Amino acid sequence: MIAVIGIGANLGDARANVLDALARLDAQPGCRLVAGSSLWRTAPIDSSGDDYINAVALLDTELDAHALLAMLQAIETAHGRERPYRNAPRTLDLDLLLYGDEVIHTPALSVPHPRMHERAFVLAPLLEVAPSAVIPGQGHAADYLPAVADQAIVRLDR
Ligand code: AMP
Repeated sequence: MIAVIGIGANLGDARANVLDALARLDAQPGCRLVAGSSLWRTAPIDSSGDDYINAVALLDTELDAHALLAMLQAIETAHGRERPYRNAPRTLDLDLLLYGDEVIHTPALSVPHPRMHERAFVLAPLLEVAPSAVIPGQGHAADYLPAVADQAIVRLDR
């Protein structure tokens, strides 16, 4: 199954955290990184603090969607443990954006990620690695780009 993972960080060395997340995804048993997008710098939305570094990973995985979510949370926790004080904000956010063309609604998991088509920091890196990506129930991801053109986003050199 090809899953699409959204990666974001805005604390600590955000760029290093995102690159580490890509490496960790590729290193998981039953997972292979098919493609990693460029890193993109974006202003926070529904959040505060420094700009975010975002990326998207295409992951070939043998894990089912819930096992994949648990794996993403374990990677987040591994980064969280590096935080210097209790309840410090997370240095890494991993979202399961797409799981093949499946639509999943359970208490733990909504796939496609409900707001992905409204966010330039998801759409821009997604379209880099999967230009013809389809969001089940929404249609082609590319069709949503014009509506997010007002969201500041810059592609960084790796
Ligand atoms: P966040 O704090 O934004 O990382 O949200 C984490 C919570 O969102 C967890 O409790 C997950 O169970 C839930 N969740 C629901 N759908 C998703 C998804 N597609 N990807 C990641 N987390 C999800």
